[in-house]
Amino acid sequence: MSLVIIAPSKNNKAYWQKRLEEELKARGEDVKVEIWPEVENADKVLMAVTWKHPQESLYAYPHLKVVSSMGAGVDHILKDEHLPLHWHIVRIVDEQLTRGMSNYLLAAVLNYHKQMYHYYELQKTHSWGYSETPEVELQPGILGLGELGTDIALKLKGLGFKVSGYSRTPKDIMGISTYAGEDELETFLQQTNMLICLLPLTKNTRDYLNIEFFRKCKKGTYLINVARGSHLVEEDLITALDQGLLSGATLDVFRQEPLPKEHPFWDHPKVFITPHIASVTNPDAAIPQVAENYVRMLHNKPLLNKIDRTAGY
Ligand code: NAP
Repeated sequence: MSLVIIAPSKNNKAYWQKRLEEELKARGEDVKVEIWPEVENADKVLMAVTWKHPQESLYAYPHLKVVSSMGAGVDHILKDEHLPLHWHIVRIVDEQLTRGMSNYLLAAVLNYHKQMYHYYELQKTHSWGYSETPEVELQPGILGLGELGTDIALKLKGLGFKVSGYSRTPKDIMGISTYAGEDELETFLQQTNMLICLLPLTKNTRDYLNIEFFRKCKKGTYLINVARGSHLVEEDLITALDQGLLSGATLDVFRQEPLPKEHPFWDHPKVFITPHIASVTNPDAAIPQVAENYVRMLHNKPLLNKIDRTAGY
């Protein structure tokens, strides 16, 4: 039996291969781990571990049962709408990844709150000046209360902010005002002046952050998008910033990555950019989860972090 890694853009595939074989051996399984496209016998492949695989590549394995993402997102797998329903799709959930994301978001929220970008600009000209913009009472609102959204919601609440959250199904999180479903979206948006997008990318959330959405936000809301570039209609953000509907944005993810050199975001005075680094999967945390799922698959046990094919995440 074998497991295939299909991740053309990753340069640490050999490390994954070695460490996965070790982890499987430690669980009593002598499994061959191969790196696509060098697969000796396609009939033997039961599991694929993927990151942005070429779409047709999975169909070469007639006995494939499980497709695992190498990270938290599965949108790169589910963008193929024809995936057989009997394939189970799993992802990585990792404490360190969650902590990394919350730390990035705390930095983004507090830099904006304390107007650090303004003082950074003043320092460049040795200027000792106070900001004329009064410090506003921040009311962070988290779009998506999953693994990452819940953690940052609680951490921001711990700092004393009044935090709201929005999800598809109702949630009960102590100290957080929660809203769910389309009927409650506008009420949620009226509770917040800083929106943090932590939605999964699904057919319902693609292009979610568009001009109609921005018109429903409180005037001057600040946007942070760390989820996926395709949540945001980029030209609508520029319109919303230029019309004053939004006051600024911190963006870590983009429709095209790397962000093209000529993209208007680079020089926009209200946009702060990072190159998709908010939080990165640690292979040493991910590999044992993949090995564990391989063994669970062999023994027909429930898989870890399996996604709901109907919901799309
Ligand atoms: P998750 O655990 O799957 O949580 C998703 C949340 O979004 C859930 O609360 C879900 O609601 C909610 N949701 C889904 N569809 C919705 C809809 N149509 N309307 C309202 N709420 C909806 O996801 P996660 O692991 O926290 O990841 C969040 C995002 O971060 C993903 O897009 C992931 O790809 C991205 N990410 C980015 C980086 C980076 O470095 N920039 C790193 C890791 C992850 P329910 O609770 O009701 O199901």
